[in-house]
Amino acid sequence: MPEFDLLVVGGGPGGYVAALRAAQRGLSVGLVEKERPGGVCLNWGCIPTKAMLRSAEVFQTVSAAAEFGVLTENVRFDFGAVRQRKDGIVKELTDGVAGLLRANGVTVVEGHARFVGPTAVEVHEVGPSPIFPGGPRYAAAPAAAIRRLEARDVIVATGSVPARLPIPGADLPGVVTSDGAFGLTEVPRRLVVIGGSAVGAEWASLFATFGSEVTVVELQDRLVPLEDKDIGVALGRSFEQRGITVLTGSTVESIAAGGPLRVAVGGPRARELDADVVLVGVGRRPNTADLGLEATGITTDARGFIEVDDQLRTGVEHVYAIGDVTGRALLAHVASHQGLTAADVIAGHPAHIDYTVIPAATFTHPEIASVGLTEEQARAAGHDVLAAKFPFAALGRSRTFGDTEGFMKIVAGQRHREVLGVHIIGPAASDLITEGALAMSLEATLDELADTIHAHPTLGEIGMETALAGLGLPVHIAPRKR
Ligand SMILES: Cc1cc2nc3c(=O)[nH]c(=O)nc-3n(C[C@H](O)[C@H](O)[C@H](O)COP(=O)(O)OP(=O)(O)OC[C@H]3O[C@@H](n4cnc5c(N)ncnc54)[C@H](O)[C@@H]3O)c2cc1C
Repeated sequence: MPEFDLLVVGGGPGGYVAALRAAQRGLSVGLVEKERPGGVCLNWGCIPTKAMLRSAEVFQTVSAAAEFGVLTENVRFDFGAVRQRKDGIVKELTDGVAGLLRANGVTVVEGHARFVGPTAVEVHEVGPSPIFPGGPRYAAAPAAAIRRLEARDVIVATGSVPARLPIPGADLPGVVTSDGAFGLTEVPRRLVVIGGSAVGAEWASLFATFGSEVTVVELQDRLVPLEDKDIGVALGRSFEQRGITVLTGSTVESIAAGGPLRVAVGGPRARELDADVVLVGVGRRPNTADLGLEATGITTDARGFIEVDDQLRTGVEHVYAIGDVTGRALLAHVASHQGLTAADVIAGHPAHIDYTVIPAATFTHPEIASVGLTEEQARAAGHDVLAAKFPFAALGRSRTFGDTEGFMKIVAGQRHREVLGVHIIGPAASDLITEGALAMSLEATLDELADTIHAHPTLGEIGMETALAGLGLPVHIAPRKR
């Protein structure tokens, strides 16, 4: 008789949310986690980066306080205190997740799980981390099995880890992944960030605010290349205005040891850069090392991600997979939604996941958020596209905030004016995108957005104003010349 109805392997935003939902559906649930609960998101991803970015934002605001009539002198920051604040927030949240798991009756087993059959694992003890006090993340090969667990159903929720960059010098001291960057105790004087997507761009923004001389090297022709082109171009311009060097269409070919590291950049703007730290912000691979996946019979794609259907089934009966390890969209909220869906399916509730509306945010300065199709994607999908833009500078609330950079862009169908995508760069973008996501979920049109009374003065008015611009009836910007 299996010990649990459901065993979840991995306690990140996918796994712990699935465990909570399954327990609330009345299942007996076990969860194996080799580190602190919360996964990458709470420990080495979403939360710690945003905590530090918030410190950077406060520093930036206080540095410019005179503009607001607030007089401060000798504004400085204490990077140790920034890290301490971050650690405190991470601890509160991970303790909170542990408390929720307890309160819902989930049995948490600490250790490294290795499959010994489709629905059975051995749990191995793991040692302490050489990098993170209190976390066994980089433990050497697990010791002997301490416990065998079996369940009727299992969910693989082991997430992802940084991929190794296949270039000479990638293993030198001073070359860090995003995980390793949390170990930096000082702000590097010269920082080279490899990769200008969300993770790389956030670190670049953070350290530039704290005074590093930052260069971002990005293979594609713009930063955040998954975003609408206008957004990537605008972020590049903004970074350059802040003194960040942006080398797009470029690759790092090698890194050589030395007093400073020597970074060889190839491409149209080839050069050699000196760096105290090189931060590799590109590439994630599925976290399936030493997981014994072969014992389950699960198949993976060419990159090793586990293939699942819209009910998160792997194709092997009773074995499900969720989150980053499925490679679908490496975002915490996608992992959590997959977790809720898988738990419901396992508990016998009809559920399917729909990936049409996935908002995403990048917490650079200026902030970025988007949902739905970019203009290029909409055109490629055969839509007759109407693209409308509205600048934050034309909003009263932006002016009062002292943050007028950026714009909203709505991509809509020309004929029916249905919202196909919303793209924002500017203040509070990550919160404002919710209106875009709701508009897409409800299949709203520009007319419906424009007809919805928005409170004044708010940053949220930008949704209504952009829709009005799209309808050719802008109120607070001049109409386009015909
Ligand atoms: C720097 C950075 C910033 C990010 N910022 C954002 C953001 O702002 N918003 C956003 O949506 N996403 C962000 N992400 C992505 C987000 O962190 C991931 O999408 C999310 O954590 C994936 O959740 P998951 O549950 O699939 O896996 P994970 O969070 O990776 O959790 C997997 C868990 O499984 C455990 N585990 C693995 N193998 C085993 C095993 N064999 N036995 C026991 N336990 C095991 C791991 O210890 C880990 O705790 C960021 C990522 C990074 C790196």
